[in-house]
Amino acid sequence: MANIAVFPGSFDPMTIGHMALLKRALPLFDKIIVAIGINTSKQSFLPLQERLERIQKALEGMPSVEVVTYSGLTIDLCRQHGAQYILRGVRDNVDYEYERRIADINRLVAPDIQTLFLLADPEYAAISSSMVRELAAFGKDVSKYIV
Ligand code: ADP
Repeated sequence: MANIAVFPGSFDPMTIGHMALLKRALPLFDKIIVAIGINTSKQSFLPLQERLERIQKALEGMPSVEVVTYSGLTIDLCRQHGAQYILRGVRDNVDYEYERRIADINRLVAPDIQTLFLLADPEYAAISSSMVRELAAFGKDVSKYIV
């Protein structure tokens, strides 16, 4: 059976931190599905279509990675794609608390789907989509942080 992981997130925008995490996960899975969650109640920084296209472009040359958009529960998306794993990143203890809560809920609802965490590379640990949005809002060039 193929090992398939869903890497869910807002990716608004996808950063070099997300990309570094994804590259480190590549050898662990036969297939990784980058799943862009659609949050209609939140004003986005990059429109969904642009996020999708940019990510698709950044993933060219990585045949085992696919990008999808989704609304609804991540575990339902996992089932649709036959994924047994959810991949997430942890940068610090704030991430850990947040991630652990989500993973606990997912495990309650779908005990057969495992959440796997990779610790952030120290050099990328400070990079987040929210940091990029904040800098961009104040007119800073964020191109070196995003993909
Ligand atoms: P969400 O909106 O669901 O929190 P994000 O798009 O912000 O999604 O992040 C998706 C996943 O990537 C999360 O697990 C987050 O902790 C992780 N992540 C974000 N930035 C980094 C980074 N610099 N290094 C490692 N993991 C990261």
